[in-house]
Amino acid sequence: MKSRRMLSMLLLLAAGIWSSGCSQKRIAPPSPPMAPELHDDLQKAAQLPYDQLFDKAVDLKFNAKDLEEMRKHLSETQAYCKQQAKTTGTGYDKQTNQLMDELKRSAGQADEPKRHELRCQIQDLRSSKAQMDMLADQLVPTAFQNGRAKLELIEKWPTEEQQIKQQIESGAYRQRHWGDVTDIGFRTIQPNQKDDIKRGEDALRQLRHEGAMPRELDNKQIQDYVNTVAQKVAANSDLQIPLKVMVLDSKEVNAFALPGGFLFIQRGLLEEVDDESQLAGVIAHEISHVTARHSYRLYKQALASSIVYSMAQIAAIILTGGAAGVGAYYALQYGFYGLGFALDLNLLGVSRDFELEADQLGVQYAWKAGYDPEGFIRFFGKMAGKHGYAIGASWFRTHPPFYQRMVDSKREIMYLPQKESWIVQTLQFEQMKPLLKEAAAKSNTAQEGKRPAMQPKEEGCEKPRQLYKPEEPIEAICSRLEERTAASR
Ligand SMILES: [Zn+2]
Repeated sequence: MKSRRMLSMLLLLAAGIWSSGCSQKRIAPPSPPMAPELHDDLQKAAQLPYDQLFDKAVDLKFNAKDLEEMRKHLSETQAYCKQQAKTTGTGYDKQTNQLMDELKRSAGQADEPKRHELRCQIQDLRSSKAQMDMLADQLVPTAFQNGRAKLELIEKWPTEEQQIKQQIESGAYRQRHWGDVTDIGFRTIQPNQKDDIKRGEDALRQLRHEGAMPRELDNKQIQDYVNTVAQKVAANSDLQIPLKVMVLDSKEVNAFALPGGFLFIQRGLLEEVDDESQLAGVIAHEISHVTARHSYRLYKQALASSIVYSMAQIAAIILTGGAAGVGAYYALQYGFYGLGFALDLNLLGVSRDFELEADQLGVQYAWKAGYDPEGFIRFFGKMAGKHGYAIGASWFRTHPPFYQRMVDSKREIMYLPQKESWIVQTLQFEQMKPLLKEAAAKSNTAQEGKRPAMQPKEEGCEKPRQLYKPEEPIEAICSRLEERTAASR
């Protein structure tokens, strides 16, 4: 009850401050409900990255009551943040409507500069509204799912780890699905991989035709570097068809593979990975979708359930982690959703299993190629922690719960035969980074305002406001919204 009381007190306080209309002195905006001090240690523990949390969870001593209260607190804060985003978004909608009325009234008048200004403002408000939708529908759920996953890990991992150790001791772990890791390259995950090549080519053509494929990054050294890493992983996988690799010039933090062995790494992903083992982990995960023919299996499933998707749609959805990917990018830039990818694959009920399978195989391939397989966990945890990163969040959208993905990956890593040394970082990776920075700076300026638009776009306006930043904690974002909402009352 304690934190609920706190929440209502804060809200009362907030209303009090702002309704008294004191405009003389700037008062710090009220914060969203913070966890009671009691949970300071727990909050701190939950900030740890997953790989560290796996090591430390055994020593953390929180009782069931602490964890329960913390969980409750997370739910309350989540509801609060979502509400804030919705309310703020509604405010933007209202303003948009007012300006559109004004624009209509001014039709036929000669004051074109004024009308231009109005259209710019409407454009900006639309973008702001889309950012609020993104916050409410995606970022907030993602951020709090991450928080809950960490609590679950603190609670359950010590017992889980004991069980894993027993399975290793008894040899029972060898019975697991795809436990035959010494035979990687000589097992059939799914027969007839080569049948997917034509499907992949068709999907690629269609995606290009729809304008959904960003262009290739114009830097041969980076392309070569990524290709080398990817081919190395492929050579240590169950892939039986050639792998074609391309780095795309897009800010989105993503990677995807089309059926038939077409692997795309987006520039944003390269910017976010910290070492080669993280990059290899993501690539290995994507290669696993190809070896297990997930697109094709999903396609068959879709046909069987008479939900008709095209291969390109299936590919785009499963492989970019959901509807969010490309669409989110456009929504953030211009304030609308487009491209018709807003489909929910969860309806088909298989994408979850595919994701877990790709995690398992991916960990195996990275390990076989000599990489530290925990690179995948480190990268995943890093992105999950970036609440402000809408574009990154697309990666998690339709995926299974964090807790399960992290624990399943960690378990698989523990089952794998130990190696004397792992590759974590390489000189080539470090040399790639400055090149990437240069290429990114160039293409960010070149591409500014050059994205295709679904609505007529007013030229010559200022860039739409970005209402939150990648690194910002979700609480800080919500707290600012409170200020904004209150100020407009
Ligand atoms: Zn995946």
